Amino acid sequence: MSLKSVNDILDVLEKQAKWQEQPFQRLLKCWTEVVGSVVAAQTRPLSIQRDVLWVATSSAAWAQNLTFGRSSLLLKLNKKLPTPLVDIRFSTASWQHPSVEPKQQQTISADEHPSYVSDRISRPDTTPSIQNANAAFGHWAKIVQARSNGLPLCPQCQCPTPPGELQRWSVCSICAAKQF
Ligand SMILES: [Zn+2]
Repeated sequence: MSLKSVNDILDVLEKQAKWQEQPFQRLLKCWTEVVGSVVAAQTRPLSIQRDVLWVATSSAAWAQNLTFGRSSLLLKLNKKLPTPLVDIRFSTASWQHPSVEPKQQQTISADEHPSYVSDRISRPDTTPSIQNANAAFGHWAKIVQARSNGLPLCPQCQCPTPPGELQRWSVCSICAAKQF
């Protein structure tokens, strides 16, 4: 792997890290605009965890109504956000105590929801700190592999490749064809 491509990867990882520092601040800025002032008065975004936005609501009825309408909210919010949210959770749990961390909510399994797009797949459990280029690359490769639905990557072009092709040629069919 060339130094340039390592730098490209590090660049991408750095941008992701920057984004992960700020998503919630960005969301707060456009929240009222997206939901409207009436809804904004009854809601308070709490945090973004693993691309799921947690929002406190003033009542269970609001939580229910907003949960039903969250698909269109997601569409609108994701137009404003560089990294799309996968879902929004509304709960009255933290409405009264804004300073308290929503610990109770953190224990709720995100994948219990049918519209939840699993990010156990897109995010390996272990997120190594970027100690060196190899670790960064290994982490990146895992993510890419996971995004390709678990298909192994061709060692030559890093494309998701059916295991059968790797067994036969050690590379993908496209790279194999180039060799002949
Ligand atoms: Zn290939």
